[in-house]
Amino acid sequence: MKIPLLDLKKQYKQFQEEAAGKVEDILTAQDFILGREVEDLEKNIARYCGTKYAAGVASGTDALILSLKAMGIGPGDEVITTPFTFIATSEAVSLVGAKPVFVDIDPKTYNMDPSLIEKKITPKTKAILPVHLYGLCADMDPILKIGKSHGLKIIEDTAQAIGSEYKGKKAGSISDAGALSFFPSKNLGAFGDAGMVVTNDENLYKMIKLLRVHGSDRRYYHDKIGYNSRLDNLQAAVLNIKLKYLDKWLDERINNAEFFNEELEGTGLITPHVPDGYKHSYHLYTLRSPQKSAIEEYLNNNGIEARTYYPVPLHMQKCFKCLGYEEGAFPNAEKASRDAFSIPVYPELTGQQKKYIVEKIMACIKLKK
Ligand SMILES: *Cc1c(COP(=O)(O)O)cnc(C)c1O
Repeated sequence: MKIPLLDLKKQYKQFQEEAAGKVEDILTAQDFILGREVEDLEKNIARYCGTKYAAGVASGTDALILSLKAMGIGPGDEVITTPFTFIATSEAVSLVGAKPVFVDIDPKTYNMDPSLIEKKITPKTKAILPVHLYGLCADMDPILKIGKSHGLKIIEDTAQAIGSEYKGKKAGSISDAGALSFFPSKNLGAFGDAGMVVTNDENLYKMIKLLRVHGSDRRYYHDKIGYNSRLDNLQAAVLNIKLKYLDKWLDERINNAEFFNEELEGTGLITPHVPDGYKHSYHLYTLRSPQKSAIEEYLNNNGIEARTYYPVPLHMQKCFKCLGYEEGAFPNAEKASRDAFSIPVYPELTGQQKKYIVEKIMACIKLKK
């Protein structure tokens, strides 16, 4: 049996005809940049996330960059974030000219540990950038409280967490801005790169709309130095179709995760922790074990794709050597990079595939005992 980490071909079959029809309409109209589908998607995503506004941009990375830029964050500023995430989170901070300042993670949730933030605040700190990693929200209440008492902006990296919830609120809607990614492998994925910023702040929304088209709201009149970061009509059309399936797909991911949780109980593997009041959307289903490398290798040899997110914490990346962190600076992030690994949890997994995955994990653990 071959089980990839994600099977988008299976997903595509569910809406193939509808997508093909829409794509043909747009090709006939030759209407590609921004456009009607983008406007519809912005309304649909704002409604889905429970925010007043949403602005489509070219990628999740750009959603972060444009949010930071629109908040006036730049050279000389510091942004507090997590070292245990995809590179784009802190890359965005560096690309606007600011400095990423890391705090370690809570080993139970893999997310930023709010109790470590205040020690890192300096007069240069302008924002906090938590990530809702793997589809589990960061602990936002204490982060919002710290933000408020120090006058800091908060941006949620919601790239992995559309549809996740924290105490009744949708990920991305909890703070000043949420950055969404529609990269194909994300829980809501386009047929290429795409992203969006969700917010309740009208001024921020207007600034992002300005920045995404060369700082212009009237053709050939430019108020700001901006970007070319537009979401295109074709991607938006695909996303409008797929959004109708999103909650069903998330329910299926949750069902799959619950199956694994039950089956793997008592094996010594650490299954995902979901605190009370959180809804995990399982972009990734991540386990921990001191025998991670052996299990990962065994699964891959048996046709099950298992992978480490992320093998190198950001403070240990070559590109961030300039920040001056040493190994050992963030022990929880470093340990997670050594012992956490993800297995397939995508909605279209069959019962047989799920059983096979559990069987192979069990077999490997027995071998190693
Ligand atoms: C995917 C991802 C991004 C970047 O999104 P792109 O659309 O690929 O630019 C940012 N942060 C995290 C945590 C991600 O997983």
